[in-house]
Amino acid sequence: MSEKKFNNRRSFIQKAGSAALAGSTLGLAACTSAGEKNININFNNKYRWKMTTTWPPNFPVVGEGCKMMAEWVKEMSGGRMEITVYGGGELIPALEGFDAVSSGAVEMNHGAAYYWAGKLQCAPFFTAVPFGMNAQQMGSWIISGGGQQLWEEVYAPFDLLPIICGNTGVQMGGWFNKEVNTLDDIKGLKMRIPGLGGKVFAQAGGTPILVSGGEIYTNLERGVIDATEWIGPYHDYNMGFHQVAKYYYYPGWHEPGPVLELICNKSKFAELPKDLQEIVRTAAYRLNRWMMAEFDAKNGEYLQKIKNETDVQITAFPKNVLAGLKKATNEVISDLVEQDDQTRKIYEHYSSFRNQINPWMDISEKIFYNEMG
Ligand code: CA
Repeated sequence: MSEKKFNNRRSFIQKAGSAALAGSTLGLAACTSAGEKNININFNNKYRWKMTTTWPPNFPVVGEGCKMMAEWVKEMSGGRMEITVYGGGELIPALEGFDAVSSGAVEMNHGAAYYWAGKLQCAPFFTAVPFGMNAQQMGSWIISGGGQQLWEEVYAPFDLLPIICGNTGVQMGGWFNKEVNTLDDIKGLKMRIPGLGGKVFAQAGGTPILVSGGEIYTNLERGVIDATEWIGPYHDYNMGFHQVAKYYYYPGWHEPGPVLELICNKSKFAELPKDLQEIVRTAAYRLNRWMMAEFDAKNGEYLQKIKNETDVQITAFPKNVLAGLKKATNEVISDLVEQDDQTRKIYEHYSSFRNQINPWMDISEKIFYNEMG
């Protein structure tokens, strides 16, 4: 070790040591100041919040998780804060959460940013980009890579505070009644595929069709659509798609790890006592982790069920098809970035973070999955 390096190392250790000391002093100070603040908290004040969701009532994992979060908040706050969770359509229509929370009509909504693309062109970049970052990388970007600050900046004019709150992991490519061997097989193919994925599908010659969750099964059965994407084996099995489709394609190139979000009315959040603010954030982070764990566990179990119980052919999209869709993705994103300065700013930030962590992922996660099985 060179003298200089050694000195740098020694000074780093010294700094770390003094930071630890300072930290412990600060820790004490923080205790005192938190103690003082607590004197000002009126523990008799009760907070009754409403959480709307974009999911059907009691929807497995996501809707289910929101109810768990409400329970955690109640327990952690000793009953001072109670959140009532509503499924989509129970209090307001499923996709009106953004406006309802923005106006303060309800305090929070659980959903995904890409549902708000009609209001904010850049919103999908906080959920999932086709062929983009996976769940782990999206989490790193938002939590540790500056994504959160950007997200807050974008939502602030709407009086909204976004908090990362779940992820489905890589989804499945979807259920098809026609084989997809080349890009030509996509031409004119009618598929239920929303969001950026739908735009890319159209760019590649396909016909994206808008179908609400409840109507997909019948539309697929009657041939109104040739294909549909949904989520992954667990939810898809429960929708019964294996009864009306022949092929189950992977991977979900269009949704490689969609981030789910909790949005809070920013002004109302600021009015909460500090301890309840931390309780809400902590519960959201716990839910964020739980959803990812639950999706992986259940998808593994249900993939096996689909293999064991059905004749569905589970198959990968051919490389040439994925390459074509990737090209179409780049074209769609270039257009979006050209149309809107905010989208450009976010996409540039997203891309530079991705370029920075990819070389690391290449020699860690990727090599591990490829080589270790
Ligand atoms: Ca999906």
